[in-house]
Amino acid sequence: MIGIAFSILDEFNFMAKYIFVTGGVTSSLGKGIIAASLAKLLQARGISATIQKFDPYINVDPGTLNPYEHGECYVTEDGAETDLDLGHYERFLNTPTSQANNVTTGRIYQTVINKERAGEFLGKTVQVVPHITDEIKHRMLLLGQDGKFDVVITEIGGTVGDIESTPFIETVRQIQWELPEEDVMVVHLTLIPYLNAAKELKTKPTQHSVRMLSETGVHPDVIVCRTEHPLNDDIKRKIALFCNVKPGNVIESCDASTIYEVPLLMLKEQLDLIVMKKLNITNYKEPDLTKWNGFLSKLKHPKSVVNIGLIGKYIELQDAYKSILESFIHAGAMNEVKVNVVNVHSENITSSNVNEQLDGLDGLLVAPGFGNRGIEGKIIAVQYARENKMPFFGICLGMQMAVIEFARNVLGLKQAHSVEMDPNSPDPVINMMEEQKRITMMGGTMRLGSYPCTISENTLAYKIYGATSINERHRHRYEFNNEYLNAFHEKGMVTSGVNPATGLVEIVELPNHPFFIGVQYHPELKSTVEAPAPLFVHFIAAAKQHALSNA
Ligand code: GLN
Repeated sequence: MIGIAFSILDEFNFMAKYIFVTGGVTSSLGKGIIAASLAKLLQARGISATIQKFDPYINVDPGTLNPYEHGECYVTEDGAETDLDLGHYERFLNTPTSQANNVTTGRIYQTVINKERAGEFLGKTVQVVPHITDEIKHRMLLLGQDGKFDVVITEIGGTVGDIESTPFIETVRQIQWELPEEDVMVVHLTLIPYLNAAKELKTKPTQHSVRMLSETGVHPDVIVCRTEHPLNDDIKRKIALFCNVKPGNVIESCDASTIYEVPLLMLKEQLDLIVMKKLNITNYKEPDLTKWNGFLSKLKHPKSVVNIGLIGKYIELQDAYKSILESFIHAGAMNEVKVNVVNVHSENITSSNVNEQLDGLDGLLVAPGFGNRGIEGKIIAVQYARENKMPFFGICLGMQMAVIEFARNVLGLKQAHSVEMDPNSPDPVINMMEEQKRITMMGGTMRLGSYPCTISENTLAYKIYGATSINERHRHRYEFNNEYLNAFHEKGMVTSGVNPATGLVEIVELPNHPFFIGVQYHPELKSTVEAPAPLFVHFIAAAKQHALSNA
């Protein structure tokens, strides 16, 4: 055993320190936000940090998961389809993540099984320990080996005690055992429920979850307690005593009005100092959170409100549009307005009720999506925005709907459609690329990741980006059909952004409209606190203008 474990570690030229974040008691406690907040504080102190997430499910990645199951699928620069927590990491840190930052059980097993088929295990029985755990360990340590990061924070998905996360926790145990004490630590996040009847905060679930974690051989160095009420010193001491952590290492994480406040709460609780002490990091500065605080202060003191209709088919599940909602928050702060998002289910929009459904809104965002459900409602919504000069922003499927609407109602191609919804449309204005037609496997086969886009001058897109060359992230199979390009141009739709290599249309806009733009890519995936996506900023500015002129 020892020999095997050390041989894996020998491959590494360790340069980073490792922090593991586990969760207990219940899911949805916000491990991702705690991990991102800690990383933000370290970054603000001049320590470079990255965050990765290990998900226990068997899917190789979340790309094939329905948003109802797993919320939004977040796409990285290098085209990985990942967990939405990676979006939080990027939004907090303003640095890109990659394929290496999100690993699932499925990917681990796929790699090990492929190696077995290739004969790499030399006739040995392939087992969870050491083969699966070695593969996990390899990936857990990977980002810390080339000197790019001082600290690698690993969030372990799921809750301690889940059958599925056992190999991950076992690997954390091995790493905690193998690495020098000052190079690794475990932060455990739990819930301290408040019993209204007893008027008391209860520590027992935390004690149980730490005991369960300890039974696996992993001992937490810090316990972060999610709570709706502040923890007094007695409770903190009790948790420390029963859970066997240092008294100062029990941290309270009270419910915050916005996730962007959590780094400041953690700063107040000195989580960063505790971590740096444990990891023996001595070279740090006072935290510089100037930009962050500037954003927060604007976020908390908006001067007016804009009402934005979010037209989608997954609106009952907020996580499905996570990055879009966060982009609104960034852009709202930038414009000093509160963005009130009005969820409109595309399935409920008909030509007879569209006026009442959308009246009073200051802007319309037609969301990304797949499949036929709610499509006609989206097209009707686009028509409403176009005809009523309401600011319109279409993303991916939303852009495709804008193209179809224009084809049907302006070009007069009544049966125009996307081949995704109607393979037999006589006017397939949204078509499938030739190389996509040959694809039979579903996972990871869309047009994914960052692609360049060339923007024409004297267009709305140019005004928004202030550049002729940009890069944005994609996740789709279908594209604007260039056979119809001239017909669209003749009737006034401008294709202001194209892929320089393929000529594929990336941006469409209408000049005789206050703000009408559709993009084939996903600008929401690159919006961060420190660098809000320009399209969102300008869309909200246009909505603000619309609200003013309608006041
Ligand atoms: N379903 C469309 C496509 O595959 C749009 C995808 C999306 O909105 N992300 O092209």
